[in-house]
Amino acid sequence: MKTFSDRLNKIVPSASMKMAQRILEINSRGSSKVVDLTFGQPDFDTPEYIKEAAYKAIKEGRNGYTVSRGIPELRNAISDFYQNYYNVNYDPTSEILVAPGAKQGLMYVMQALLNDGEEVILFEPCWLSYRDMVFLNKGKPVFIKAKEGLTPDIDKLEESITDKTKVILINNPINPSGYVFTKEELEQVVEIAIANDLYIVADEIYDRIVFEKFLSLSSFSGIKDRLIIINGFSKTYAMTGWRIGYLLSCSDVISKVSLIHQHTATCAAAASQHAAVGALTGSQTSVDAMVQSYQRRRDLMCEGLKGSKFPIIKPAGTFYAMLDVSSLKVDPQESVEVLLSQYQLATVSGICYGESAAKYVRLSLTQDETQLMEVIERLRKS
Ligand code: PLP
Repeated sequence: MKTFSDRLNKIVPSASMKMAQRILEINSRGSSKVVDLTFGQPDFDTPEYIKEAAYKAIKEGRNGYTVSRGIPELRNAISDFYQNYYNVNYDPTSEILVAPGAKQGLMYVMQALLNDGEEVILFEPCWLSYRDMVFLNKGKPVFIKAKEGLTPDIDKLEESITDKTKVILINNPINPSGYVFTKEELEQVVEIAIANDLYIVADEIYDRIVFEKFLSLSSFSGIKDRLIIINGFSKTYAMTGWRIGYLLSCSDVISKVSLIHQHTATCAAAASQHAAVGALTGSQTSVDAMVQSYQRRRDLMCEGLKGSKFPIIKPAGTFYAMLDVSSLKVDPQESVEVLLSQYQLATVSGICYGESAAKYVRLSLTQDETQLMEVIERLRKS
């Protein structure tokens, strides 16, 4: 009997994708009233000026393989963005790698850094894919439980380090809670990483969807050789289907990661790279408008549920929010079923993001304000 690799035994399907499939099935039966709050995908279309940049490149025949690390125009645009926005310098020729999505970039990084059994520290609640990426690369995820209110517990970081620890993974702002790390918390992480000679992998894909002060780890000086920034276009520019993201680090890390990229994807899709150049170099007013809309939705939900039996944690960034469903008095997986059957709301169970989020569900606020008013009404109905 032919078998699969042992490493696959620990991998679980994505909870949000599983729920999305269920909603599709429910909707295909017709007359469904289910409001889908599961998917981590902007409900906006990619702005026109970005599509135009791709059409132009396609029509001009720029459709072949590109330089593996990404077309120079895109690496220059990313470098200029970091210079102008964060006042930091990343050399476009040696310190930037364009990948087919931030997720793929993260997978490359895990492949590049982890040996069997090496540990990656993750703060709960965290995006489920991290855990599986670590497992797929034979590493071991080590979770630090969140404090009450889902604040990451940085004070537990030092004691979680063992002689197998290789990486501290920071997702800032956090999917699913929308938490934004404070300067002091980041300083603490950096200090501990230096003292223990660890890598920091910083997934900052929601860096532009922030409603309060956000500090990128890239702005800390003297840590470029241990810091790998992951970012991309999916969320900020509503470009999830274009599959385009990037990594920033020192030239040594980028050249190692680049080996994996060369032998797997070769390069990110040419049209997507040209679209991404358009995204960064064009007017940012559509980004501002989308972020303002996410902020209005957040405020609407937080105000609308005030005093209800479903308290919500106010997110400082992202388009997610964690809803406390402990008043339903059922176990975590069951709460999602109750919300679906009794409230016609599709959500993702907090337990998918770590045990400390068990009494919550994640809401993706990627529905318009009218739909969110309906969500509030349903949640307040009893
Ligand atoms: N990182 C986080 C925290 C995410 O939530 C997601 C998508 O949901 C990604 C990375 C994936 O980004 P991309 O679409 O660029 O692969």
